[in-house]
Amino acid sequence: MQSLEAELERATALDVADLADAIETIGFECTRCGACCTAEDDDPHTATVFPDEVRDLQEATGEEWRDVARPMPYGLEDGDDGSPTGETFEWALQTDGCGDCRFYAEDDDGVGACTVHEDRPLICRTYPFSVALGGTSQPMGEAVDEAGVVRAHECEGLGRDISREDAEELAAALKERAVREIEEAIAVRDNYEPVDPGDGVVVHDSEGAKRPDGSRHEG
Ligand code: SF4
Repeated sequence: MQSLEAELERATALDVADLADAIETIGFECTRCGACCTAEDDDPHTATVFPDEVRDLQEATGEEWRDVARPMPYGLEDGDDGSPTGETFEWALQTDGCGDCRFYAEDDDGVGACTVHEDRPLICRTYPFSVALGGTSQPMGEAVDEAGVVRAHECEGLGRDISREDAEELAAALKERAVREIEEAIAVRDNYEPVDPGDGVVVHDSEGAKRPDGSRHEG
């Protein structure tokens, strides 16, 4: 596998017009089905959110860190009282009691919407696409379609016509996400130092080791 630095160079060199061509070839229109914002079977919704995106959402909503994001669950274990414990990497959007993204809401007719649409993180702005570069996330399982370096993941909106303007906007966000994900991965790697999480959880992100409330983990 290429080094993250080499992948970052490739991501930085991605041509937005080429990405837009690929997105047009695959085709996409959001049907507002809500599938990408809700729990899947019994698995809670799990989408990566960067630390600065958590702060942006905090600013937009006036909420606490832990109401916006939760520690990424991978690698955590249940402690004696059933609460998670251990070290993990990165944050996921917080979920509600049903396992749905906590910013997802349905009206009386069951039509879903994102309540933070303008401030939603890059992962949401670029769903259901990813790019085939090391160090980027492929969070929606195996690709079901591809064009160039663009991969498309399970979504009922795939294959629909998309305007050039929308394709270019999506392509620009997709490139931004690829660059950010690799930069984040490099910073996590460079900042990582093992810590003793005790009975709690420690989250390693690009800014260092943190507690689940977003505060710095000391010692
Ligand atoms: S932030 Fe908005 S778009 Fe993203 S998963 Fe939550 S409800 Fe969906």
